[in-house]
Amino acid sequence: MTTTTPAAGPAPTAPLPALVVHCPTCGAPPGRLCTSHSGTRFRRHDVHQTRTKAYRAAST
Ligand SMILES: [Zn+2]
Repeated sequence: MTTTTPAAGPAPTAPLPALVVHCPTCGAPPGRLCTSHSGTRFRRHDVHQTRTKAYRAAST
């Protein structure tokens, strides 16, 4: 049993290193894409600014 399986959701269209942290804005858990419109739309191109900040804060 491995843990390499990404959870539900489409694959991102760009490298999104901030996915390793939880998003404070939309509540996406680590490994999941950010969502918009109450979770009905995946943000495959980017993440919320707060998540990028959280990632930077966690990686320093
Ligand atoms: Zn988000």
